[in-house]
Amino acid sequence: MITTSVFDLFKVGPGPSSSHTIGPMKAAYDFLLEIRNSADAARGRKVEIHLFGSLSATGKGHGTDRAIVGGLLGWLPDTCDPKALLELGNDAHTLPVSDASITTAAGEIIYHRGKTDFPHPNTMILKLTDGAGNILLEHEYYSVGGGFIQRKGRPVEGTRDTEPRFPYENMESLKKQLAASGLSLPKLMIENEKSLTGLSEREINHRLDFILEAMEKAVKRGLRGKGLLPGTIRLQRKAPKVYEQAKSHSLTSDSFLMFLNAYCLAASEENAAGSIVVTAPTSGASGVFPGLTYLMKHHFHYSPQKMRDGLLVAAAVGFLVKHIASISGAEMGCMGEIGTASAMGAAMLTYAAGGAAAQVEAAAEIGIEHHLGMTCDPIGGYVQIPCIERNAMGAVKAYNAYLLAMASDPSYQKISLDSVLKVMRATGRDMSQKYKETSEAGLALSMTEC
Ligand code: SF4
Repeated sequence: MITTSVFDLFKVGPGPSSSHTIGPMKAAYDFLLEIRNSADAARGRKVEIHLFGSLSATGKGHGTDRAIVGGLLGWLPDTCDPKALLELGNDAHTLPVSDASITTAAGEIIYHRGKTDFPHPNTMILKLTDGAGNILLEHEYYSVGGGFIQRKGRPVEGTRDTEPRFPYENMESLKKQLAASGLSLPKLMIENEKSLTGLSEREINHRLDFILEAMEKAVKRGLRGKGLLPGTIRLQRKAPKVYEQAKSHSLTSDSFLMFLNAYCLAASEENAAGSIVVTAPTSGASGVFPGLTYLMKHHFHYSPQKMRDGLLVAAAVGFLVKHIASISGAEMGCMGEIGTASAMGAAMLTYAAGGAAAQVEAAAEIGIEHHLGMTCDPIGGYVQIPCIERNAMGAVKAYNAYLLAMASDPSYQKISLDSVLKVMRATGRDMSQKYKETSEAGLALSMTEC
């Protein structure tokens, strides 16, 4: 049964990676709370940080080191200052724990290489030690994708005991709930959100508007962005130039795609720069949605309600992927991130254009189907190449999936969303670890860094 909240999926926080930045920051914050509640806190002197799997392989480029120190300093993704996060450096910092002098430093993080037996490839272990190096407190955390975390021995964050008003676990059962209730998909999502979170419809709408606004801000900032992105690749921002070209080509048939490209690149470049973005479903894929929502608002002039409904429909697809397969690049490669974003975007566009539930399903299925097997091999461990352009490509595919779904009779659709998600899960399991956020193969080896 799916008990995830829409606001567990769409989260505001600093880039560049939900599983490497947002998740680890939340895990570190959880550890800080544990220290504060520990009877041994006063004897603590240091927090040791151990990273494994993909967190170890690409954690540096993804800002995991700074995110963990930030979390141990009491910062949280949705309220932290991204600039302060970038400036944390390698020096030791003192944790905000009263009557104790406990330090930690990004420069002292221990990166464990090689294969591990942990239940998830994104694993971190935090240890509080005393002056003699004795362990006073230790917890193991998994960053399971999209900024969701799990502490060993506990359920994945966002798993609730409360049953939603209309429970479902796959597209088939969701369609049955829709038919039995007579509700539209967004209305059903609202009812579930109310029962899971206790929020009123008004509060849910308010939060959806906040998410849409955060996406719009990321695009606007990115369109004005200048210079090089952080890191050793020395990648130049492209969005402002593409935007200028789009405006100068506004009377040509290319302009529509150029505008969409510019918006997606803008938000993705903001993510790569460590600015505030929205996980949709992850930070690496946080350019697909803002590109599409910017287009829907500023080119199609969709109403605020239509935009909210679109987000809710997209969330339903995101939940299904997360529940049946995974949205984690470390488990699925890029099909888990851009593939999911593209399928969610296709569903949103289809619903907003008046598509029926069967067409929404077809659009999401097409979106996933044409990302199956897509690898994750970011150069230098930075969420830049191929990630930034891939967001634009994911949005274009979302648009085409919507067009294909709207143009055909959904009863001719041979593959269901549930079937393709099972294939996605199997493909992710079969994929070599080298292509799952480790930067050990593929494009990651194709460029010599200087
Ligand atoms: S290649 Fe895809 S999955 Fe990998 S870091 Fe980039 S956006 Fe994320």
